[in-house]
Amino acid sequence: MKKKLLVGVMILCMVVFFSAMGDLAHAQKKYVSIASGWVVGVYFPLAGAISRIAHEKLPDIKITVESSGASVANAKLIASGDADMAILQNDIALYALQGIKPMFDKPVPNIRGMTALYPEHCQIHARKDAKIASVRDLKGKRVAVGPLGSGTEQNTIQILEAYGLKFEDLAKVERLTAAESGDYLKDGRIDAAFYTTGVGASAIVDPAIAVDSMIVPIDGAQADALVKKYPFYSKDKVPAGIYKGVDKDVPTVAVLAILVVKAELDADMVYRITKAIFENIRTIEGAHAKGKEVKLEKALIGMPIPLHPGAEKFFKEKGIK
Ligand code: GLU
Repeated sequence: MKKKLLVGVMILCMVVFFSAMGDLAHAQKKYVSIASGWVVGVYFPLAGAISRIAHEKLPDIKITVESSGASVANAKLIASGDADMAILQNDIALYALQGIKPMFDKPVPNIRGMTALYPEHCQIHARKDAKIASVRDLKGKRVAVGPLGSGTEQNTIQILEAYGLKFEDLAKVERLTAAESGDYLKDGRIDAAFYTTGVGASAIVDPAIAVDSMIVPIDGAQADALVKKYPFYSKDKVPAGIYKGVDKDVPTVAVLAILVVKAELDADMVYRITKAIFENIRTIEGAHAKGKEVKLEKALIGMPIPLHPGAEKFFKEKGIK
């Protein structure tokens, strides 16, 4: 009887001990949030992969992923300290640092670079029956210009401008989430939708299965003018065969998706996360086709803002400039 009691007490002690240890580990775990983008975009699955890497390789760090309107909203979350890390477009990152209006009322002084990720293309997804052969034909059409808080909307303004158009020239300007844009396009409630996102984003793949659609080209003198006026753009193409109904390469322009971090985040932590990302690049590659374009050698190409010292240390070690 005494022996049984003793065993019982010992088990109880062990339960209390291990649950206390668990609480301690929980309390010591550092929570880092990453503001991503549209659930039907590419930022979101890539941020998920970064979170998975931390889960598997950095047991003291937990990275939580938030979906958002994307680039402009994310820069503001960095400014307010509500996000520790974020994915956004490189053009918007510099606009944020400099506080360019109308997107930013004031500069975001604490935004720092971590790594460049992949090119994201300005893709105008249009219903075939809307007969939009050129951006110019968007005049008088119903258009989703980019989700609230997106970088897309800024690109839309600049692209329309290159073709001599303004929002006022459109029959209807819709600010929908990326998922809603796809639904509206399928239902015929809009004629076209702009997305600056990785080629192969489900925002375009999925509606393209349900409705006869196309990608409107951005090319010729207008693309040249755009690249000249806003050097963040490079001429690129949406390859044939990615979207149903798009059988030929479509010329367009692209910017770059980058990973940023707030200046206040501990340098050692930023170093460890940056290192873990590149040491586990397979996880990034597996999250989305665009993940295969994330490369250590290209980590600093197109990075428009100062690096965080933690990231800088890692790239110096690797000899990346
Ligand atoms: N580049 C987009 C934007 O900021 C977001 C793209 C994505 O979520 O994949 O508008």
